[in-house]
Amino acid sequence: MTLSRPILASSILCYDELIMAEEKALKLSPNSLNLYRECPRCFWLQFNKGIHRPRGIFPSLPGGMDGILKTYFDEYRGTGHLPPIVEGKLEGQLMNPLAKSLMYKDTDLQVILFGKLDEALDFGDGTYAVVDHKTRGYAPKEEIIEAYQLQMDVYDFLMRQNNLMTKNVAYLIYYYPTTGQLHENFPFEVVVKSITTNPERARQVFEDAVNLLRSDEIPHASKTCEYCGWAKAMNNLGD
Ligand code: SF4
Repeated sequence: MTLSRPILASSILCYDELIMAEEKALKLSPNSLNLYRECPRCFWLQFNKGIHRPRGIFPSLPGGMDGILKTYFDEYRGTGHLPPIVEGKLEGQLMNPLAKSLMYKDTDLQVILFGKLDEALDFGDGTYAVVDHKTRGYAPKEEIIEAYQLQMDVYDFLMRQNNLMTKNVAYLIYYYPTTGQLHENFPFEVVVKSITTNPERARQVFEDAVNLLRSDEIPHASKTCEYCGWAKAMNNLGD
C-alpha cells in the first residue's frame, strides 16, 4: 500500500474546511487505532457497520483539567518562556502558533489519519516535539502504557507528514493529586516523562487497520473483553 501526499502545514490552519471537503473519506484517529489494537472486531463493526461499543460513564475531571491546562499554557505562548509549572522539566519554547490539528490523507485509499495535539515544543533548530497532558489519580509508573505509545507515535507521524520534523521524542506531562494542606490550593504533582516515538510503527498500524476494514470477514472477538461475554450471556436468556 502506498501512503501518498501529505496535507501540508498550511492545512493546519483550515482543518475544519479540509475535513468538510473530505467528507467521503474514512477518518481514523489515535483513538480508533487503539480500538483496532484492543479488539479488531469492535473496530471493524464500528467503521463498517456503525455499531459502537457502549461508552459507559465518562469522567469529567480529566476534561475539565485539560481545558484549564490549555488556557494556562496559552498564556505563555509567544512569551519566550515555558509555563513555570514545567520550567526546568522541558526544553525549548511552546510552538507558536500551535499546530493543533494535524491530518494526513492516503489519496489512493481515501483514508484520513488525524489527531489533535494538546501542546508542542519548538526547539528552535527546526525540530519539534509533541506534548500531551495526562491527568491521573496517582503517580505514573516507569513503563509507558501501550495506548499512549501508539498515540505519540501517531502524533509524531502526523508532525512529520506536515513538514514538522521531530527528534523521535514526545513528552507526557502527568498531573496527579498529592497529600498536603488542601485548604491552601489543592496540591497536584507535575511529572514529565519523555517517550521515544516511532512514526513508522504508526504508519504500520494505520495500514494494517485500513486493510482490516477493507476485508469482508468480521474478526473474532477479544477473549478478555467483558462486553461480548455479557451480550452472549444476555442472548442466552432469551426474551
Ligand atoms: S470483545 Fe466484543 S464488545 Fe469487546 S471490544 Fe471486542 S467486539 Fe467489542
